[in-house]
Amino acid sequence: MAEKTTIEWTESTWPVLTGCSRVSEGCRNCYSERLTATRLRNVPAYQGLAILHHGEPRWTGEVRLNEGVLYNPLRWKRPRRIFVSQMSDLFHEKVSNLWLDRMFAVMALAGRHTFQCLTKRAERMRDYCNDPETRRRVGIVMLDLIKEGEFDVPNGMIVPLERCPDSTNEKPAFWSVWPLPNIWMGVSAEDQKTADERIPLLLQTPAAIHWVSYEPALGPVDFTNLSPPNFINAFGHSFGLPSLDWIVVGGESGPEARPFNVQWARDTIAQCKAAGVACFVKQLGANPGQERDTKGDWHSWKLLDRKGGDIEDWPKDLQIREYPQLKQETP
Ligand code: SF4
Repeated sequence: MAEKTTIEWTESTWPVLTGCSRVSEGCRNCYSERLTATRLRNVPAYQGLAILHHGEPRWTGEVRLNEGVLYNPLRWKRPRRIFVSQMSDLFHEKVSNLWLDRMFAVMALAGRHTFQCLTKRAERMRDYCNDPETRRRVGIVMLDLIKEGEFDVPNGMIVPLERCPDSTNEKPAFWSVWPLPNIWMGVSAEDQKTADERIPLLLQTPAAIHWVSYEPALGPVDFTNLSPPNFINAFGHSFGLPSLDWIVVGGESGPEARPFNVQWARDTIAQCKAAGVACFVKQLGANPGQERDTKGDWHSWKLLDRKGGDIEDWPKDLQIREYPQLKQETP
């Protein structure tokens, strides 16, 4: 059974990793950490990965590969968008290259699905995806899985393997197509500082689709002017870097939600529109508002849905939910 989700921009989740640790302000009210420390604390895949300290959830720092769900996407027949590792960070420092290779091999073999990867560890993502050895290792894991024949991978769904340059008839070697056409690579950024740090690294990562989750948005972001003094424009035209393809924007939810200025969403929509880039307004959060134009007073918005996720509840100009166009066809 596929994991159901209420996350608006995806269709299923794949909790292939569990456990994490915080890296920036965007992690302060981490939903996964709270869930792991409370409702899921007695579930084997989550046990001991987070505790309650004076009532507050705290990761213990351990990370696990959840073998029980690793191969699930190969069993899901209907093509769908899948959010990868929503309970952890895919490129956490405790996630080994071997674990990553196994996850990427599953994603490659499940070519009928679209996998949406997201990380706050952008440097590790860039290095892993650019390492020439990665595609060879992923190819080896794919071949092993195909040989084992345990999964029903329909014809035409397998991403073709290519022969490596040093492959011989006696000792054939293969690597996977790279970047994999059914994997979207993304970073989370909550403010200008984290956007400056992570988006340039994302744009140096080979990927079918490059995307940003600007959630929980905690401050304004100018995507056209990143990382001074280099002044990278995330919409392309900077040092030969590709353009972003998609931005998801949203306010924070939960009891401790920090304020979300809906002007940040409006600015993001305008920047995306000017650049011809898809934009998706996910939610306005539990604490949305806007500065009044004249006096500068904060004006809180009252919304019916407690995480501000009901699009019908918003002004028309915020009701934007677009998806990116694939640069290449999925085989
Ligand atoms: S990286 Fe993601 S999963 Fe990990 S602590 Fe931060 S918000 Fe939570």
